[in-house]
Amino acid sequence: MKVTFLGAAGTVTGSKYLVEAGGQRILVDCGLYQGFKQLRLRNWDKFPIPPASIDAVVLTHAHIDHTGYLPVLVRDGFGGPVYCTPPTDALSQILLPDAGFLEERDAERANRYGYSKHRPALPLFTEADARVALTRLQTVDYEQRVAIGDVGLTFHYGGHLLGAAIVSLATPSGHIVFSGDLGRNDDAIMRPPVKRPVCDVLVVESTYGDRLHDEAAAQEQLAELLPRVAGRGGSVLIPSFAVGRSQTLLYHLQQLYEAGRVPRMPVFLDSPMAIDATAIFERFRREHRLSAQQTRAVCSLPRLTRTADESKAIAATKVPVVILSASGMATGGRVLHHLEAMAPDRRNAIVLAGFQSPGTRGASLEAGAKEIKVHGNHVPVAAEVLALRGVSSHADQNGLMAWLRSEGTAPRHCFLTHGEPAAADALRRRIQEELGWNCVVPAYRDAADLQPLSGNVRT
Ligand SMILES: [Zn+2]
Repeated sequence: MKVTFLGAAGTVTGSKYLVEAGGQRILVDCGLYQGFKQLRLRNWDKFPIPPASIDAVVLTHAHIDHTGYLPVLVRDGFGGPVYCTPPTDALSQILLPDAGFLEERDAERANRYGYSKHRPALPLFTEADARVALTRLQTVDYEQRVAIGDVGLTFHYGGHLLGAAIVSLATPSGHIVFSGDLGRNDDAIMRPPVKRPVCDVLVVESTYGDRLHDEAAAQEQLAELLPRVAGRGGSVLIPSFAVGRSQTLLYHLQQLYEAGRVPRMPVFLDSPMAIDATAIFERFRREHRLSAQQTRAVCSLPRLTRTADESKAIAATKVPVVILSASGMATGGRVLHHLEAMAPDRRNAIVLAGFQSPGTRGASLEAGAKEIKVHGNHVPVAAEVLALRGVSSHADQNGLMAWLRSEGTAPRHCFLTHGEPAAADALRRRIQEELGWNCVVPAYRDAADLQPLSGNVRT
């Protein structure tokens, strides 16, 4: 069995792992690099192997840093199936075309305003490319085994996002498990991940490998912030991932409103994608913790602004409001217009709800930048910036350790991915000290030839 780390090695985006075993070439996740330009440039690299030589793609979940390269892979010759869970399919149907649309729009704007060095600036892929790629999706329910040649694929509940899965591949030369992005045991709306499957090779994420979450802090922070901002006549802007995070924030706001702890500021869900994702959240109710009644209450809280005109009209609202708008790290989407309008006013607040990848506008805001660049303009930041604690949909260091311990049999090989170097190394040291496993933090394009894994064949 050979594993090649084509992304999320020493960083948190671009997840792509090539598994070659049992005569199959399987790509686990097909993500886009985001954040720093030097990483994003990798999206334009020639794929290291011919896409046509890959037999199947397996997606752990619908986030673009795990799926966003799929339109390129398919356009460049990949002809096989793409396996995922039903909610991942449903979410990808809205996320991937939107990513293509944003690529095209950004390229078009760069050409119009001349803020790209490239003439003409081109989109990495188009909305049409994304729609073609989506025709390859084949859904597999949790705990249902599907054969990819001699390799058996099983998805297990991962708890990170609706549809998120821990991926298990039983190959003739051993059993490899990918944690995917691993959920928390105490998430507000998702159930905990299943216990770690027995395996020979384990690839585990390490986003929060060096940090502990402040449990339930987010709701308390919002409980303090909302009255303060409303009191000074300001509004709250929350750049938010349309999928997952927006629904969690609506849950927190609904809880605070219901308990009468904050003034009932009108909430706008200003993202067509977040509106669609909220509908999917309602549809796959069995995949999360909330009851039918709770789900309805959360989903009916916001005013939905689907059109651009409705979005612009929010600015004319005279009362303090809460605006949830994508994208979550303010890298694109409608939130940019709100940022331009709201960041210069010190009465307002900008709430960062989750991990902000280095190199993004969200990370600049979190670091206290006094000015950000939006659409080529310099925008002063006078608004209060608050980073919410405890809203992560990833397990923290203790959560990761608990999941690793949840099965007694140690893997023969353990690789730590999907973490910045300090996070991955902190987790590596803790695993080594407490579990005695030898872990490797692979670098970009590292390949591990793990054959033969004799005596561990479970097919
Ligand atoms: Zn994710």
